[in-house]
Amino acid sequence: MKRRIEVIMAVVLLLGACFFAREGARMVENSKAQTGEVCVVIDAGHGGDDPGKIGVNKAKEKEINLEIAKKLKNILEKEQIKVVMTRTDDAGLYQQSSSNKKVEDMRKRVEIVSEAKPVFTVSIHQNSYPQESVKGAQVFYYGQSQEGKKLAETLQKALVEHLDPQNHRQAKANESYYLLKKTDSPTVIVECGFLSNYQEAQMLVKKEYQEKVAQAVAAGILECLQSGQKSKI
Ligand SMILES: [Zn+2]
Repeated sequence: MKRRIEVIMAVVLLLGACFFAREGARMVENSKAQTGEVCVVIDAGHGGDDPGKIGVNKAKEKEINLEIAKKLKNILEKEQIKVVMTRTDDAGLYQQSSSNKKVEDMRKRVEIVSEAKPVFTVSIHQNSYPQESVKGAQVFYYGQSQEGKKLAETLQKALVEHLDPQNHRQAKANESYYLLKKTDSPTVIVECGFLSNYQEAQMLVKKEYQEKVAQAVAAGILECLQSGQKSKI
């Protein structure tokens, strides 16, 4: 009988120790996140009246962008990275009374990036093309930005490695996307897949695949941040 009481006491003590260790770790994690200096902006493209591309399966780009952006935020925050989102719900970044919602929306996004002063911004989008067979994730950067190019190449490599080793696309320069041109810190656009390709469109609406995309983008972001830190030493 005495032996049984001893065993029960030991189990209770062990469970208690586990609980406090976990709570302690969580408190440290939270305080690190609050004081974390590394900030990344995650931009979920489109929103509100602007659905973005419409998939062959009727999927709306704005919804897929937001889901992937939110998953990406969660992953990065677990790594103590401060994340600023340009939007966290369906609404676009404009007033309903605005005479040009698209322009106001884009300006607001640039404003959020300027205020956040991030190490870089990752804008999440989905692609579309008249030819149905075209597919595969691709990352775009502002041609004038060497840092943007490096970031885009690292993210492209991570997407190929973690999402689709058959994807032979390469990071590509773009001189006309508003967000790439107007932000003063490096910005890249991740086109996670083609909504015009039935197979890819069907995968992009699934939570598991969205999580996989977010994991791949996060792996690229973490690699960039780590190599950035190393180069500073
Ligand atoms: Zn888009």
